[in-house]
Amino acid sequence: MSDFDTIIRGGTIIDGSRMPRFKADIGIKDGKIAEIGHLGNSSAKKVLDASRMYVAPGFIDLHTHYDAQLFWDPYCSISSWHGVTSVVIGNCGFGFAPCHPKDRERAMLTMTRTEAIPYECMKAGIPWDWESFPQFLDSLERRPKGINVLPYVPLTPLITYVMGLEAAKTRKPTDAETAEMCRLLDEAMDAGAGGWSAQRLHPSGGNCVQRDFDGTPMVTDLMHNETAVALARVLGKRNEGFIQMVLSTSDPRADVRHLEELAEVSGRPIIFQALRSTDSRPEAHRYTMKWLDSCYERGLRIYPQAIVTDSGLTFDLSEDLNLFDDSEAWCEAMLGNVEDKLHKLGDPGRRAALRERPPQTAADFWDIIIADVKQPEHKDLLGLTLGAAGEKLGKHYVDAMLDLAVSERLRTEFFAPAHNTRLDLQTEVAKYAYAIPGVSDGGAHTKFLTAGVYPTEYLINYVREGGAMSLEEAHWKLSALPAYAAGFAERGILRTGYAADIVVYDYDGLKLLPEEIAHDMPAGEWRRVRRADGYRYILVNGEVTFVDGKSTGASSGALLRHGVAHSA
Ligand SMILES: [Zn+2]
Repeated sequence: MSDFDTIIRGGTIIDGSRMPRFKADIGIKDGKIAEIGHLGNSSAKKVLDASRMYVAPGFIDLHTHYDAQLFWDPYCSISSWHGVTSVVIGNCGFGFAPCHPKDRERAMLTMTRTEAIPYECMKAGIPWDWESFPQFLDSLERRPKGINVLPYVPLTPLITYVMGLEAAKTRKPTDAETAEMCRLLDEAMDAGAGGWSAQRLHPSGGNCVQRDFDGTPMVTDLMHNETAVALARVLGKRNEGFIQMVLSTSDPRADVRHLEELAEVSGRPIIFQALRSTDSRPEAHRYTMKWLDSCYERGLRIYPQAIVTDSGLTFDLSEDLNLFDDSEAWCEAMLGNVEDKLHKLGDPGRRAALRERPPQTAADFWDIIIADVKQPEHKDLLGLTLGAAGEKLGKHYVDAMLDLAVSERLRTEFFAPAHNTRLDLQTEVAKYAYAIPGVSDGGAHTKFLTAGVYPTEYLINYVREGGAMSLEEAHWKLSALPAYAAGFAERGILRTGYAADIVVYDYDGLKLLPEEIAHDMPAGEWRRVRRADGYRYILVNGEVTFVDGKSTGASSGALLRHGVAHSA
């Protein structure tokens, strides 16, 4: 009989604890790390050669929206292609449970805009074999998974389930309704939920970039502080779980106080989105970091999820986009199907409003680049910014964009450069003591966002190329810190007795590959993806799930009820 199921031999271990690297073998048995050290005399059914490789804990991505995708893609790609071995789903208050059967259609429609997941994929791919949150967990449990999954209770479906959509958006819950929400949250936590999540952007809906299907604010945007406090108390009473919240930036101090209150009444960790740099406003993220320092001095566990990728976006206007929803006029014009949008975007009567306040969420609007044109007579516009195209054509840059797009039935491709292109400012954010790298939004915005590359980009930009931190520090942030904040038990560090979620990679060979289009979605839909070179082996609960970027077909991922894998 073999001593171990698998031995990873001869690698350099960076265990995620921030202790210095060391050379050792890892022996794995029953999905867990059984021994670390010189295992030269031991036998194993499988031996993985890790010489000249680093061996580190698998990455933990706390901000994803794989709630739909994991039903057709057990690996939750592209995250799993970049060394992620555990994800938290149900972020921002969005998801599909609990949900009355009559509300399923509306729940899917909501996700087409706020998270830009194609409707046809959801329609074809979601099995809908649940109504309650515990039933949703059971459904996840039954699916094969190539990655570990911990779900939040998203507050949008929870509040909608109790009050109905109409009431949830127009009035305060009664005491009885609040009590029912608390009861359902308790029940979901009993079944193993990780905590709860909400997006709280602008209650008026104005300037909000993630809106409902019909352009109105999301339920949690309109949620009353009292409701959030009541639900935070549920976690406090249980002394269990954590809270994720996306915050408004219009009135930072008011929101910040609310967040502090939630941390106080629950006593639980709070993950807030997002700490990010903006090229033109370096004071903004520095202010937030000072506030966080003050939270730690006062004993409040509030951790920022940091955007550490330069997230430029490629898109065309025919897609379900939420990118322009920070502008009322643009939001209205971008509602509906392609025919509706062609009509509205081509309507001269609407242009004044569209020119007056172009959206700013994607980039400074005149800096958006014309990335691809469909008609030969437009070739001379290729590569120009909208500003330059407007000058060339003698029109306003908004008209330049919309005339071009309408004449090509909205198939013209644009590229919006990110607001955070300055690596020096991004590095300040990445280096912040308790900033959790991420906000991949994995599974969402599938046609224009590939931020799931963040672990690979992090190691390349901040360690190998930038030298901003040691590999030891980087791996702590990519694995141990999120595991701590989100209550993943015995994960995030390579230690005897812990889960064998492991990446074995070639540090010098680590490389991001160019963006591609993949036709691998249900109902023939497509998405943008990015792969990486350099990950030799990825292991989830001791099984190899990827070798050199190719899936082995293993489905060793677990539903982490209460942050723990329960073996069957
Ligand atoms: Zn999100």
